[in-house]
Amino acid sequence: MTLVSNENILVETEQIIVKIDKICPVCNIGRMRPANDAVLTSMPPKYFHKCTEFKNGCDHSEFVSGVRYPLIEYRDKPESNG
Ligand SMILES: [Zn+2]
Repeated sequence: MTLVSNENILVETEQIIVKIDKICPVCNIGRMRPANDAVLTSMPPKYFHKCTEFKNGCDHSEFVSGVRYPLIEYRDKPESNG
């Protein structure tokens, strides 16, 4: 009698975690951050973001389509050549 194996094949891969910020297009210093959970339910949805430099006088805000910043990405470590 043969047992059917339902084992999962698991692989571990070391990853680099990368944070991707959107720089404010007005002051070029601040980073855009979601504010007050405002969402336009368009397709894709648009998320309200405000510049982090509001305390320094930048009052830029905008709706960003489809993404909330910062983005967090996992990337494969580059192969070392030696
Ligand atoms: Zn700004």
